[in-house]
Amino acid sequence: MTERVDHDVVVIGAGFAGLYQLIRLRELGYDVRVLEAGDDVGGTWYWNRYPGARCDIESIEYSYSFDEALEQEWNWSERYASQPEILEYIRHVADRYDLRRDIEFGTTVESLAWDDEAERWIVTGADGRQRSARYVVAATGCLSVPSRPEFDGMADFSGELYWTSRWPHDGVDLEGKRVAVIGTGSSGLQTITEIAPVVGSLTVYQRTPSYAVPAHNGPAAPRLEQVKPAYPAFREESRLARLGFHCDEEGAGYYAETDGADVTRELDRRWSDGGLCFTQAFRDVLFDVKANETLADYVRDRIREKVRDPETAEKLIPRSYPIGAKRMCVDTGYFEVYNLPTVSLVDIGQEPIHRFTERGIRSGETEREFDVIIMATGFDAMTGALLAMDVRNGSRTLREKWEAGPRTYLGLMTEGFPNLFMITGPQSPSVLSNMMTSIEYHVDWVTRALEHLRSRGLHRMEPDRAAEDNWVNTTNDIGDLTLMPRAASWYMGANIPGKQRVFMPFVGGVGTYKQIGDGVAVAGYHGFELA
Ligand code: FAD
Repeated sequence: MTERVDHDVVVIGAGFAGLYQLIRLRELGYDVRVLEAGDDVGGTWYWNRYPGARCDIESIEYSYSFDEALEQEWNWSERYASQPEILEYIRHVADRYDLRRDIEFGTTVESLAWDDEAERWIVTGADGRQRSARYVVAATGCLSVPSRPEFDGMADFSGELYWTSRWPHDGVDLEGKRVAVIGTGSSGLQTITEIAPVVGSLTVYQRTPSYAVPAHNGPAAPRLEQVKPAYPAFREESRLARLGFHCDEEGAGYYAETDGADVTRELDRRWSDGGLCFTQAFRDVLFDVKANETLADYVRDRIREKVRDPETAEKLIPRSYPIGAKRMCVDTGYFEVYNLPTVSLVDIGQEPIHRFTERGIRSGETEREFDVIIMATGFDAMTGALLAMDVRNGSRTLREKWEAGPRTYLGLMTEGFPNLFMITGPQSPSVLSNMMTSIEYHVDWVTRALEHLRSRGLHRMEPDRAAEDNWVNTTNDIGDLTLMPRAASWYMGANIPGKQRVFMPFVGGVGTYKQIGDGVAVAGYHGFELA
């Protein structure tokens, strides 16, 4: 039996969130241990190495803001950094702050058990090793557990099978090969765009088409030169913005109050700027069906312009859900790829995938042969990584508590599981925001809470039931005001068979959320029981 090691804090995950939590707590003198399943830092950007992987929020925003020296010394090469560059940045951060000495890699946490007498968490890894900690911070990621749909005959396929979310570190040679991609969400779009020119043939299996706005990627230098001299003020604006990054919100009026020519002008302007701010053109895009349809039609028309074959264009046009109600994609020539003679599209609504065969995929009446099949099938989002662990307090388990959907207070803690914090947990803005802004806010909030406890000789914190119920209701009510629940999205858990369909993120905006979170803290952690 190996000896159990005791820490002040165990942090699970060494992505952007876990690393920043380590930095903050270490500088305050806490004994912190980070446990990470992967073999190095990076989280999302360690695992998702598929061709074309890049962020869809500008790197001047999608980066740490906690240290001005770091901000000033780092130069992004592109407006939207690619996965290798983001990973390089994270590694640079790990080196710069000497983080690896407190991280155990290759360590998957399997269970967390609260010892009520000792008031500590017992953290058990897949290797059976245990640590105990007064506090646990789950920095386990919103999009870290791949969704792996099972098709009949998958094991029979004799070619190569890859998941975008677990792409081989040595890369994959696709040149000249017959390749299939299943899935047309963000990872699928990026992969398809990148590999289409090099593969021999590409067949895309699409269940639901995506709305995509052009990235207009390019050198980062012009924006960096503009922003760097006043980076702190720029970041402060991001923290108060609706999505956690700059989207010219002040300029956006209500669709219902804007006349036709101005609507078109605004959409043209945002389309030519590129990026996710397109959906922020009007304040009521997520509330007003007409506003939403106008934006959706605008994108549909652009797809028709880009794709030469009208039949293919119609298949690529999203119709079944409001724009913005599923994760928007940012593309760099995605739709144009379908003009290549080597690329074809299979709509699995019309031609369902029956099974994998030894040589390929049988869908509808057709069997197509492939050398490589790439699964771009997304993630068990938001709750996947938390519920993959057996989290329990006596006979109560998190899995049972969340059976009908997650229940949290502020997306930071859940009643019945003291001293367990979540970074970007369900019912916080998380995936609806620039995650860097949301991660930093949560890490700072948790750090401040731990300092509050320590300075008062306290060591236990837990939300009370009423506060949690209120927050869950508030989150649901705001969600229900919008068009978001009308899409069968991963925000709703709809991509995972058997998962309860509830709208999981807080859609009220990053700035509003910050004001609430700050207010709760200033009021002595209103809604939390401290002991
Ligand atoms: P992660 O980066 O997911 O890290 C969590 C870590 O926890 C992982 O390394 C995982 O191995 C580890 N872990 C989980 N469970 C356990 C366990 N039980 N035991 C041990 N270790 C565990 N967000 C944006 O804001 N903008 C973008 O442009 C953007 N692009 C994205 C592109 C892709 C392809 C994906 C998948 C996500 C993207 N995201 C984007 C979301 C992205 O996940 C976040 O921005 C951010 O990287 C999350 O950091 P994190 O540290 O919270 O989680």
